[in-house]
Amino acid sequence: MPDCLFCRIMRGEVPSKKIYEDEHTFAFEDINPQGPTHVLIIPKKHIAGLKEATADDTELIGRCHLTAARIAKERSIEDGYRTVLNVGPRAGQSVFHLHVHLIGGRTLHWPPG
Ligand code: AMP
Ligand code: ZN
Repeated sequence: MPDCLFCRIMRGEVPSKKIYEDEHTFAFEDINPQGPTHVLIIPKKHIAGLKEATADDTELIGRCHLTAARIAKERSIEDGYRTVLNVGPRAGQSVFHLHVHLIGGRTLHWPPG
């Protein structure tokens, strides 16, 4: 999608600190980190968000989470991390290209705000 911020980051049109890329997923540092690790993992296919995803996207959503787990392992934060999808504006979704937040490297409290 031409005007989507995260599609533009993937194409290298907007600078980012890339962490990982494979055939289906792309990961980069969040610009406003909420912990020592805060990485965003996105599918290369433009999907607006979880509620716009269809059964065709099942594998892709799983792949995003497995990319998050791989990065968490590489960073040795497996003693506690969180993967989060904010869905809709009231949950704080501000970019409408599906993304998994990987947050860790500090103690995480529950419930989140
Ligand atoms: P959400 O609020 O769940 O839609 O998450 C969007 C995330 O994207 C926020 O955590 C922002 O800090 C992050 N973000 C926005 N613009 C950029 C950017 N140019 N590079 C990296 N992360 C960004
Ligand atoms: Zn996009």
